[in-house]
Amino acid sequence: MYLKRLEIYGFKSFAEKTVFDFEKGITCVIGPNGTGKSNLVDAILWVLGSQNPRDLRGGKMEDIIFNGTDKRKPLGFTYVTIVLDNADRLIPIDHSEISITRKFYRSGESEFYINNVECRLKDIVDLFTDTGLGKNGYSIIGQGKIEEILNSRPDEKRGLFEEAAGIVKYKNKRYESLKK
Ligand code: ATP
Ligand code: MG
Repeated sequence: MYLKRLEIYGFKSFAEKTVFDFEKGITCVIGPNGTGKSNLVDAILWVLGSQNPRDLRGGKMEDIIFNGTDKRKPLGFTYVTIVLDNADRLIPIDHSEISITRKFYRSGESEFYINNVECRLKDIVDLFTDTGLGKNGYSIIGQGKIEEILNSRPDEKRGLFEEAAGIVKYKNKRYESLKK
């Protein structure tokens, strides 16, 4: 499993459609301060299901939409698409590539797609449970995260280990069946 492609439109400083094709292995993104390196990571977190604008370094969800410059008008919506290589079937869908798209309009409406089929946000979040990917996964480690893990409460640390061990989906299923 690896990130093959990232397509961004209207997300934060990415006013134009921008496509990144990644190879297997390590990719390094470099550039001067304020040129959008962290915005790129925010875009990945967002498409994986983040619902908290603060995780995306903003005050409200609308802040993720390109809000214009001296020369450009603000945009009315944003979308982000990621394509994951799923040759190893880490994600339980029988396709060797999985694309995920999230769209957000200034009016507040959202759209979500898995392999171009419209779905709910929950479907995207569920897809990544126990894979280490996803909005709560440990595959994206932001600035300050290591310190946060070291200083977390024992039950929070346990949550991280459970995600890594791949048992969160069973705990969720148990919880849902007990509710019924
Ligand atoms: P550093 O090296 O300092 O970490 P960086 O490359 O990570 O910098 P980012 O934080 O990704 O930089 O980008 C910050 C830039 O994104 C700022 O110039 C900010 O104005 C711009 N930006 C953030 N949100 C929006 C938005 N909604 N519309 C337009 N530009 C935005
Ligand atoms: Mg940064």
